[in-house]
Amino acid sequence: MEIEALARKNIRELVAYSSARSEFKGKAEVWLDANENPFDTGLNRYPDPLQQEVKTRISELKGVSPDQLFLGNGSDEAIDLLIRIFCEPRIDHILTLPPTYGMYKVSASISDVAVRTINLDPDFQPAVAAILAAANAHSKLLFICSPNNPTGNRIDPLRIEALLEGFAGIVVVDEAYIDFSSGESCTQLLEKYPRLVVMQTFSKAWGLAGIRLGMAFADKRIIHLLNKVKPPYNVNQLTQAAALAALKNPTETQMRVKTLLTERKQLIHALEASPIVQQVYPSDANFLLVQTADPNGLYHFLIDQRIVVRNRSTVIGCEGCLRFTVGTPTENTRLIQQIDTFAKTLAPDA
Ligand SMILES: *Cc1c(COP(=O)(O)O)cnc(C)c1O
Repeated sequence: MEIEALARKNIRELVAYSSARSEFKGKAEVWLDANENPFDTGLNRYPDPLQQEVKTRISELKGVSPDQLFLGNGSDEAIDLLIRIFCEPRIDHILTLPPTYGMYKVSASISDVAVRTINLDPDFQPAVAAILAAANAHSKLLFICSPNNPTGNRIDPLRIEALLEGFAGIVVVDEAYIDFSSGESCTQLLEKYPRLVVMQTFSKAWGLAGIRLGMAFADKRIIHLLNKVKPPYNVNQLTQAAALAALKNPTETQMRVKTLLTERKQLIHALEASPIVQQVYPSDANFLLVQTADPNGLYHFLIDQRIVVRNRSTVIGCEGCLRFTVGTPTENTRLIQQIDTFAKTLAPDA
């Protein structure tokens, strides 16, 4: 099916709000068109609604054309917009592959859009045949998270391609953790599959969770729909400025990622040596899924030591597991020390 035909009728027919800043794009000296305050506070003007400068930089870095790029108030905004663009409430649904990121379901529920779940197989890979069998004409979006949160593994690219071939709706690949992965980004598949959306974010590797900036790479018809539905000034000026500053110095981000990858390796070693750790799952992300004998006991013990980790022990497929984000060397040492202390309280003679 054509991309426009997949979108809701009201969205196809929507005439986007035309802001003052999007109607006049030329050079001027006197700006009396947007009811802004004329006195210079450094922030008295509305920001660029399409973030052209930031997009130019990102497109150079990622090798994707600026018209295949959407920027949102975090990836979470892109998730919400995609659901609102493609899913008719109470009629259409999305497909998700648990255990996975919780926002897909929350965003769908807010829009009164149902969620069909097809659990990942025991290796945390998608069950392609079961997913395609669960899909019908109302399955508008399939969310694949790779590397997956909370399991940490990347999804087999051949299975992603099989899903792109077999699924008739939009396939969203959430690559929030791609910079920590040894695998390649799905952005290289964009030309071949116009129904693919790849999401990335400034929140993890870039160390800018506080500015709220997410990226979606897709065919320009999908980008057009996202731009039509988004609030006109969804990415504020401070965010655009902070992103530009970071993009001017990508080596700094690359160095931090390198340090975190070294730390991840050491953390895996230390955890595997612990008598209370049953399994450390392979990770292509900046966190580790770790199975232990007494997840709740360890979780509360760590809280008492003022260390907060994520308890995933009640999540399907993650029974007995905690999720540890890779921290600074000092933080990781402290985590390991406290896990050792907890282990000794369980087996004082060991
Ligand atoms: C952290 C994370 C994001 C990032 O969301 P933002 O809104 O960009 O901060 C997206 N997807 C997954 C799976 C994540 O874990």
